[in-house]
Amino acid sequence: MAALSNSSEDACLVINAGSSSLKFSVFQGGSASEIEPVVTGQISGIGTAPHFQAKDAQRRVLADGVLDEVGPADRAGLLGFLLNWIRHELKGATLVAAGHRVVHGGTRFSAPVRVTATVLDQLEELIPLAPLHEPHNIAAMRALAQVYPSLPQVACFDTAFHQTQPWQSQTFAIPRELTAEGIRRYGFHGLSYEYIAHRLPQVAPELANAHVVVCHLGSGASLCAMRAGHSVDTTMGFTALDGVPMGTRPGAIDPGVLIYLMREKGYGADELEKLLYHKSGMLGVSGLSNDMRDLENSDLPAAAEAVELFCHNVAKQVAALAGSMGGLDAVVFTAGVGENSTLVRARVAEKLSWLGVAIDPAANRAKATRISAQESRVPVFIIPTDEERMIARHTLGVIAATQLSRAA
Ligand code: ADP
Repeated sequence: MAALSNSSEDACLVINAGSSSLKFSVFQGGSASEIEPVVTGQISGIGTAPHFQAKDAQRRVLADGVLDEVGPADRAGLLGFLLNWIRHELKGATLVAAGHRVVHGGTRFSAPVRVTATVLDQLEELIPLAPLHEPHNIAAMRALAQVYPSLPQVACFDTAFHQTQPWQSQTFAIPRELTAEGIRRYGFHGLSYEYIAHRLPQVAPELANAHVVVCHLGSGASLCAMRAGHSVDTTMGFTALDGVPMGTRPGAIDPGVLIYLMREKGYGADELEKLLYHKSGMLGVSGLSNDMRDLENSDLPAAAEAVELFCHNVAKQVAALAGSMGGLDAVVFTAGVGENSTLVRARVAEKLSWLGVAIDPAANRAKATRISAQESRVPVFIIPTDEERMIARHTLGVIAATQLSRAA
């Protein structure tokens, strides 16, 4: 096993807590803009058989094993273990804060916020908006407060980046009283889009004020229309179900289908949830897998159809978002599929050729940063996303601002 060198620097812990796993990273290195990850890892199997894995910045394994010192569902115990491990591994380092990825900020949270008892109560109120994710985000914050009460925590929201959207992009055509209750389009993957909004002007300074569609294509997938680095529209809505097909989610579906399934086939809320979150998308269409790699490597016609359906809908949404913001100056691919699938990028670009999009096949295969052909009217980029870095930057920013306001 590799070992980390001693360090006396401040460290920021980043946590992405799910139902059965807790992914983490530790960032070090001075100011928020200079930090780098020194450790990444996860505790998987929470609730059943916890397993701990950690790697250093060079992807060398630092730890990999069963975690049986505490109860399998004891989140505070598991976080206590993680904190001890970090203290031991990063000798001399001082953990100054923890930043959490929080899926839903509702209408209240439009920026990262220091976690307090009041904030936790306000987040509890948002659970009905994201019942599969929010409770786990909150549980991790509560557990960490229990084992390390003096460690400042910051919540960073996947919805916050979209708060700049005009009302037309945020509103369903439903009675106003329902909209007032919060039934509106929020959008997700905001931390990823925010990172891309920072990166793109570094990669292509001439696009700082451009109309850009960013395609975040992972096992969850959405697209975002950005003007001058601000979100103006996005494909996900009230929940992370809307938009393009995903690994196991269908994307946009005629709501009449749901009424039909309830009336004619007796589906209840739980069955609909299972169908829409776990059994549809690439898995449902292919009958084979939710993983794009499996579909690309398969000879099954249904696998090819699933890939085609995915690309068709991504291309359609690029065009729809260009229409929504009134222009298209660049397209960016990011996340697992967007960064890695040469086939998906090529098929989507082909379908957008009428908009003046043309890809250079060699650059696409090589996963170059700029993959458009010389003659392409619209430049096309691959920009790897980094949501963890965004969370660490926000977290250190919020802590610094809090300290400044205390000193004033
Ligand atoms: P999430 O964060 O939403 O879980 P990621 O952004 O990590 O997802 O993307 C995961 C997906 O990326 C995998 O399910 C797989 O389909 C896809 N992927 C990863 N590598 C490749 C590859 N080389 N070719 C095609 N698809 C890939």
